[in-house]
Amino acid sequence: MNATRLPPYCVGLTGGIGSGKSTVAAHFVRLGADLIDTDAIARQLTAPGGAALPQLCAAFGQNILTADGALDRAAMRQRVFSDPAARQRLEAILHPRIRELALARSQASQAPYVLFDVPLLAESPAWQAHCARILVVDCPIELQISRVMARNGLPRAEVERILASQASRAQRLAIADDVIDNSGDRPHLEAQIPPLHQHYLRAALTRVARK
Ligand code: ADP
Repeated sequence: MNATRLPPYCVGLTGGIGSGKSTVAAHFVRLGADLIDTDAIARQLTAPGGAALPQLCAAFGQNILTADGALDRAAMRQRVFSDPAARQRLEAILHPRIRELALARSQASQAPYVLFDVPLLAESPAWQAHCARILVVDCPIELQISRVMARNGLPRAEVERILASQASRAQRLAIADDVIDNSGDRPHLEAQIPPLHQHYLRAALTRVARK
């Protein structure tokens, strides 16, 4: 007899750099969620031999590769930074492939629900459409800046440049179904996670529609 399997219940997790998204994701994984990290998928697609490299080289030339045959991510970032058309070409190649792999992984998941870690969720209606629920990790911009400066040893100007290239805090909050406030200490952050986890478990079981 064929048991019909429901599609996985998908929660989209996003937040600006330094908001605490990775910290939050790790807590959900500890509670039993399956994390699908779209950045990790992007790295896999652009590592030596990666499936996206032939198309990227056709679009941008062989000189986008490092000596070991991976995408030179820093050089690529630099190249698209001031060239929106190039950014669009890059994203048109990478993003559908990232989504396809992420969705395939979610289909294979045995967890009660999956968490898609998508830094660019606010910028991507296509991704939003795959999420039953959108969870945004939020904190004041000053805190984002100081956390990233401490974590990555970057100068303030560099962090501000990255922030300016991302969706704004307001844009992210506008797509949120749920918000985790990470403006406090770690216990304040951690206390918000179990109730959300319970909510997603219940929603996954009863398939409550979003909004
Ligand atoms: P993101 O994945 O959004 O870039 P991280 O989860 O890596 O952010 O958090 C950024 C940095 O701030 C990390 O070094 C993390 O350990 C630290 N951090 C996150 N939340 C808190 C908090 N509530 N209190 C103190 N440090 C935190």
